[in-house]
Amino acid sequence: MAEDTIFGKIIRGEIPCDKVYEDDRYFAFYDINPAAPTHVLVIPKKPIPKVSDAEEADEALLGGLVLCANKVARQLGITEGGYRMVINCGKAANQEVFHLHLHLLGGRDFTWPPG
Ligand code: 5GP
Repeated sequence: MAEDTIFGKIIRGEIPCDKVYEDDRYFAFYDINPAAPTHVLVIPKKPIPKVSDAEEADEALLGGLVLCANKVARQLGITEGGYRMVINCGKAANQEVFHLHLHLLGGRDFTWPPG
């Protein structure tokens, strides 16, 4: 079983957040330290620590995560302007919270390569 994290507490309502979406499998809320005008974290309720920990059985959950982020992007009106989805995997990739999450960033132009 994955260790509990701050995101587990947010999902359970033990820590407040600015929620933008929830269904039976996913939860989305604004990042407390936004890196873009719109910066939302979309997370599966299942506490998978890192994307590299996902298993074959998580295939639909991972696909659904991207579709959920698309839905949130439409809800927030950033679809036409374009957006970026980011999943950091591991400390070297800057992952700080070990509950799988997808960063949905929009509302500005982005450069490549990322930092
Ligand atoms: P990571 O670096 O793990 O990919 O991203 C973690 C993200 O979670 C960071 O962008 C950070 O600002 C955000 N974050 C950390 N703690 C909290 C919190 O308590 N509330 C919210 N809304 N975001 C958080």
